[in-house]
Amino acid sequence: MNPEELLDLKREVSRISIKAYERGLVFGTGGNISARIPGTGLALITATGVSLGDTTVENLSVIDIETGEPTPDSPAKPSKERYFHAAVYRIRPDINALCHLHPPYATALSVDYGEMPLVTITAEVNLVKVPCAPCAVSGSQDLRKYVEDTVAATPGVKAILMCRHGLLSLGQTLVQAYNLADLTEDSARAAFLVEMLRKK
Ligand SMILES: [Zn+2]
Repeated sequence: MNPEELLDLKREVSRISIKAYERGLVFGTGGNISARIPGTGLALITATGVSLGDTTVENLSVIDIETGEPTPDSPAKPSKERYFHAAVYRIRPDINALCHLHPPYATALSVDYGEMPLVTITAEVNLVKVPCAPCAVSGSQDLRKYVEDTVAATPGVKAILMCRHGLLSLGQTLVQAYNLADLTEDSARAAFLVEMLRKK
């Protein structure tokens, strides 16, 4: 990837990060978005302690997919949740972009429901199955293992919930990962409303 293509990829990570924040799929300094750098063993990932809404091409970090650690010349400190991003890139070579977000309905459903109920036909056809990774502290190796195991257990999975935390969507492109995150939140909202109506 030449420098101009890398700059374009950084611009796309920044654009999608700001879009996710403005859409209300994440709050405060939570969430992180990454993209594999084609032809390398590296990925771009948003920085720790910086709101996704403030992402720029200058404050992205670069991590080694083998270790999850930043490269020596990484321009910013990467998200502490980088370990599960790296793990998913290792086990899913077809995936080039990940969105980890904390949208309200998907996060609420992650607390008690386990696998997400797919109540709309769109969710059933497009998401197929949205399993839930067990709860662990952000940035921990336990969380990395739970996310990795949950993704590995469902071949081709496009999105997972993370218990008491949020969601992770997997795309071949940043746009696809973003749209899957948005669809997962929309589907979680529909599931929540159906549950409310059934309780009447
Ligand atoms: Zn998180």
